Amino acid sequence: MPDFLTAEDVETLTKAKVRPHAEQRTDVLVIGAGPTGLACAIEAQKVGLRVIILDKGCLVNSLYHYPPNMLFFTTPELLEIGDIPFTTARQKPTREEALEYYRKVSEHYHLDIHQYEWVKTVNGEDGNFSITATDRVGRPHDYKTRKVIVSTGYYDLFNQLCIPGEDLPKVSHYYGDAHPYYDTDVLVIGGKNSAAIAALDLWRHGARVTLVYRGAQLHHHVKYWIKPDLENRIKGNEIEAYFNSSVQEIGVDHVVINTPGGPLRLKNDFVLALIGYHPDYDFLRSMGIELSAEQHRPECDPVSLESNVPGIYVAGVIVAGSRTNEIFIENGRFHGKQIAEDLRIKLRLGSQTNASSGQ
Ligand code: NAP
Repeated sequence: MPDFLTAEDVETLTKAKVRPHAEQRTDVLVIGAGPTGLACAIEAQKVGLRVIILDKGCLVNSLYHYPPNMLFFTTPELLEIGDIPFTTARQKPTREEALEYYRKVSEHYHLDIHQYEWVKTVNGEDGNFSITATDRVGRPHDYKTRKVIVSTGYYDLFNQLCIPGEDLPKVSHYYGDAHPYYDTDVLVIGGKNSAAIAALDLWRHGARVTLVYRGAQLHHHVKYWIKPDLENRIKGNEIEAYFNSSVQEIGVDHVVINTPGGPLRLKNDFVLALIGYHPDYDFLRSMGIELSAEQHRPECDPVSLESNVPGIYVAGVIVAGSRTNEIFIENGRFHGKQIAEDLRIKLRLGSQTNASSGQ
C-alpha cells in the first residue's frame, strides 16, 4: 500500500471499506492524545509495555482548540508530564508554548501517536481487545491490544441550553478570537472563567457585550485577577449583566432573556454560550463501563483506575463524570503513574524503568 494515496485511491478504499494497513498489535492502546493520555502512554512505556495512542484529532487537540491568545491559569511545572521540565519566560505559559511542549515530549519519548483516527468500537476482553478506528477519509483501522486506557477528555461535547435558536449559525459554545465580534452585539452566557474572560476580551476589542448568568453574582471560581476586572466593567455599565437570569429564545437578530424584572428582548448579533462541556458518556457506556446515576462517574478502582470492565482503565477528567471542575491537567497527569503501576503488577513486569523511550 503506498504511503500517499490519490483522491481516487481514497474513494475506492473508502467505498470498499478496505483496510489500508494490516491489524496492529500492542500491549496498551490509549484512546485520546491529550496531556493525560500522553502521560499514561509514557508511564506504560516506562514499565516496558508497547503503547499506541489514537486520537480523532491532532496531538493535544483540545489545547489546540483553546482561544489562540489564551494564557494558562497555572504555572508551567504543573503541566509537566514524563518528568520533562516545562519552562517559560513568563509566570504562566501560553497555549502556543504548551503545544510546543507536548510536541517535544511526544518526540522525546518516541510516542506512537496515530492522529486523526477515531475509535468507533472496543470489543473483546481483558488481554485480548479488538479496536476499530476510522481515519480522516473514513477508512477502517484495526488494532489488537491487551489493555485499554480511555482518556478522551471533555472539550468536544458542549453543554446545551436546549432552547429555540441554539442551533443558529450565530451561536457558538466555544470562544476563539475577539476580532470578528468588533462593533456587534454579543450575548455571553455563563458565570465562570470562560464566560468572564470572553466578556472582558470582547469588550476590550470593541464589541457591545451583555452577560447573562443564572447565578446571583459571578461565580467564586472566577480567578481573582479576572473577577474584579469584570465586576468593575459591570459597575461602570461598560458591560451589561443580568444575574439570576436565563435565555429563553435566540432569534436571528434578537434574544429574549428572563430576568427577575421580567422578560427582555435585546438586539443581538452573536451568542457565546460558554456553559461548560462534558465527557462522551455514550462512548464509555458502549465499552460496558458503568456510570453513576447522578454525576455519570465511571465505576473504577480509585487507586488503579481500572473500570468495572477488567483491562479497561479511565484517566483524566472523565473520572469525575459531570464534575469536570475536579480534574484538570494539573492532577489528571498523575493518572498515568497509577495505571502503569497496576499494569506492572498485573502483567508481572519488573520494577525497573526505561526513562527515555521505554520501547
Ligand atoms: P464551567 O466552569 O463548567 O462553567 C460553566 C458555566 O456555565 C457555569 O457558570 C454554569 O453555571 C453555566 N451553565 C452550565 N450549564 C448551563 C445551562 N444549561 N444554562 C445556563 N448556564 C449554564 O465552564 P468553563 O468556564 O468553560 O470552564 C471549563 C474549564 O476550563 C474550567 O476548569 C476552567 O477553570 C477552565 N478554564 C481555563 C482557562 C485557562 O486556563 N486560561 C480559561 C477558561 C476556562 P453555574 O455556575 O450555575 O454552574
